[in-house]
Amino acid sequence: MASTGGKTYIVEHLDEELGPWSELEYIAIATECQDVGSKFLLSSLPPAFKVPGPLSAIPAFTAETRGVEEIYAQDKFRVCLLDPAAAKDLAPEDGDNFDVFLFGGILGDDPPRDRTSELRKKGFEGRRLGPKQMTTDTAARVTRLVVEGKTTLMYPANHISAPLQDVPYVDFPELKFNEHESTQMPFRYVKAEDGLPIMPRGMVDLIKKDADKAIDDLF
Ligand code: SAM
Repeated sequence: MASTGGKTYIVEHLDEELGPWSELEYIAIATECQDVGSKFLLSSLPPAFKVPGPLSAIPAFTAETRGVEEIYAQDKFRVCLLDPAAAKDLAPEDGDNFDVFLFGGILGDDPPRDRTSELRKKGFEGRRLGPKQMTTDTAARVTRLVVEGKTTLMYPANHISAPLQDVPYVDFPELKFNEHESTQMPFRYVKAEDGLPIMPRGMVDLIKKDADKAIDDLF
């Protein structure tokens, strides 16, 4: 049986800056790690980087200027890269094989540009989370469900590991803002008990704001 708890989730910062979407995603990862007793590390941050207050206030969160290669130079074998191009899918047993799970700090793009390759090149062992692109917080949520069997959002804390295909998903959901406005998200999400995609708090409002801005910019 996969071990329960104490895992470390690392997002290696790969974008130029930490935009508002990433900030909400990282707050969601940190909050969920905090709830289940795991750790969340945001690595490879530029030295002058100012971590947003709400993120640094979460005890499970650590900001790190070193890259993951340097942090785990001596024990690379402990680190599993979540890689959309990996040959093997993540399985509950990987919770016994690895105690660090690494994600690319990249906003989702459509079509995907395979920027995870920047981490793949460093030689970490990779696992796929199925064939569809997930947002980074979804990828962390699904990984935790599979290897630790827990999330405070949808399963009781002592739930035993859920294999990848048992996780309920919503693919490419349409977000309806009002009668006339909607947008389709080109990602896979975990489905909550109410049937809606699990998204970071504040994300729907941010998406709506960005959509409104895009329309305003047309005029
Ligand atoms: N478009 C992307 C790229 O350029 O690689 C994927 C970015 S995705 C939004 C951010 C991170 O989530 C990836 O670097 C990877 O670690 C993880 N991820 C997302 N979907 C995944 C999948 N289906 N399998 C494995 N990892 C995934």
